[in-house]
Amino acid sequence: MNFNTGLVWLRRDLRLNDHAALSLATHECDEVYVVFVYDTVILDELPTKKDRRVVFIHESLTELDEALTEKNARLITAFGNPLEIISSLAYELGAEIVIAAHDDDPYALKRDSQVKEQLKTRNIEFKTVLDHLVKERQDVMKPDGTPYRVFTPYSKAWRTAVEPKDLSEHAIRFSSLKTPSKLKLPNAKIANYSLSEIGFEPVDVCLTPGLKAAEGRLKEFLTKIDDYGQARDFPAIEGTSMLSVDLRFGTISVRECFRAVANLNSNGGRKWESELIWREFYHMLLANFPEIGEGKSFQPDLNNLSWPGSKEDFEKWKAGQTGYPLVDAAMRCFAATGTMHNRLRMVVAMFLTKDLLVDWHWGEQYFAENLLDFEFASNNGGWQWSASTGADAQPYFRIFNPILQSKKFDPDGEFIRKWVPELRELDNKDIHWPFEEDGTRSLLTPADYPDPIVNHFEQKSKVLALFDKQAR
Ligand SMILES: Cc1cc2nc3c(=O)[nH]c(=O)nc-3n(C[C@H](O)[C@H](O)[C@H](O)COP(=O)(O)OP(=O)(O)OC[C@H]3O[C@@H](n4cnc5c(N)ncnc54)[C@H](O)[C@@H]3O)c2cc1C
Repeated sequence: MNFNTGLVWLRRDLRLNDHAALSLATHECDEVYVVFVYDTVILDELPTKKDRRVVFIHESLTELDEALTEKNARLITAFGNPLEIISSLAYELGAEIVIAAHDDDPYALKRDSQVKEQLKTRNIEFKTVLDHLVKERQDVMKPDGTPYRVFTPYSKAWRTAVEPKDLSEHAIRFSSLKTPSKLKLPNAKIANYSLSEIGFEPVDVCLTPGLKAAEGRLKEFLTKIDDYGQARDFPAIEGTSMLSVDLRFGTISVRECFRAVANLNSNGGRKWESELIWREFYHMLLANFPEIGEGKSFQPDLNNLSWPGSKEDFEKWKAGQTGYPLVDAAMRCFAATGTMHNRLRMVVAMFLTKDLLVDWHWGEQYFAENLLDFEFASNNGGWQWSASTGADAQPYFRIFNPILQSKKFDPDGEFIRKWVPELRELDNKDIHWPFEEDGTRSLLTPADYPDPIVNHFEQKSKVLALFDKQAR
């Protein structure tokens, strides 16, 4: 053993299996304590006290503490600024090392480097390990040593580079896990804080939190993975895994996800792997182009693009009152559940930027505040893809037609009917566009459904001119 005592600081790895930090700590230390900090730097910024992410984390930690109890250990939770907690707690517990998983979000990187400095002054080591990705940072680079900017060659290189050990299970030696008899540190306890103690209120997460539920989602998804390639684009069908929030908070191991499909002879499985590699791609971009984390466009010449879209249109987009049925259905579903299907994220992001000419940063922020699975790298990547400012983005002249998207991906109007009740009575042909061709109201238009706020074709010409003039 290298150390007598270690402290594992959980952040985005809220599970008790295949766990890099817990595996390392329990094999390298005689005794290991486990802590999660409800970080007030993050919590204080949240716009509402009914935040689904906080409830998801809280419930997952309750389950995790119960599972630890079965292993004769308990979870320590703390509430406050990690800069004031981690080094004091490690010192109080007599830890010689603190181990955590990598987190490359801009705030987390800064926080971790400060925590490391603080621990150093107390002669405590700080070690972070790769857990939430399979390949990260500079693991997969171009032959000339520079980062990839295009997904397809990155994905090929990723598949060539990945080795069995990258996907192997990181087992935990549970006998090393320990519980302190008591804690002196204020704002820390040997149990999970209650939601109200951390200043939040219950809200329906719309998806069961926790490790067991995540395993259930993976198992259920594997029964239909062969259809994934076709089903994944239709929001009315449950054709995707719904595991993004689990990957975000680590209630499932990404290695387990890759292992689950590695030996399947399934085109759906290959396609799903490819989506998981998109996630790795966006994280790799953030790590190698940190200016992305500072609000910059990936394509520097597009930083000066001045989007003329109005606050008023932005508010109508948020409220699902644009007069474009699929866009409205997606935005209303998002407001009610905090989740949005990938096809719809592309449709609404493209609509905001290319039809309403609104700055993509506004949409990115709105998603960041409300997405259950909000992940800086993927959210930024998705927005810059849609706004055509990103790496390997949709070319600016290829603009989704929201009515055609609706006809193609919600052909029977099933998703629209669920979320836009005003349109429920319309037939499958009219539901995608309940207006005259030019957007004026027709006999079919329900009285309580809004007029289209823009004309798609007029806006298309404007956005093309905007890119042509300002960016090129
Ligand atoms: C504008 C926009 C914003 C987005 N914001 C986020 C975000 O904040 N967090 C997030 O996890 N994903 C984001 N995505 C990607 C994608 O929409 C979600 O990952 C997906 O809808 C999650 O559903 P699922 O778990 O059922 O996915 P599945 O189809 O089952 O895919 C499996 C996993 O692969 C990853 N993945 C799938 N598609 C993508 C993608 N295009 N980019 C990156 N990773 C992907 C996710 O981790 C997902 O859970 C965004 C996409 C767009 C267009």
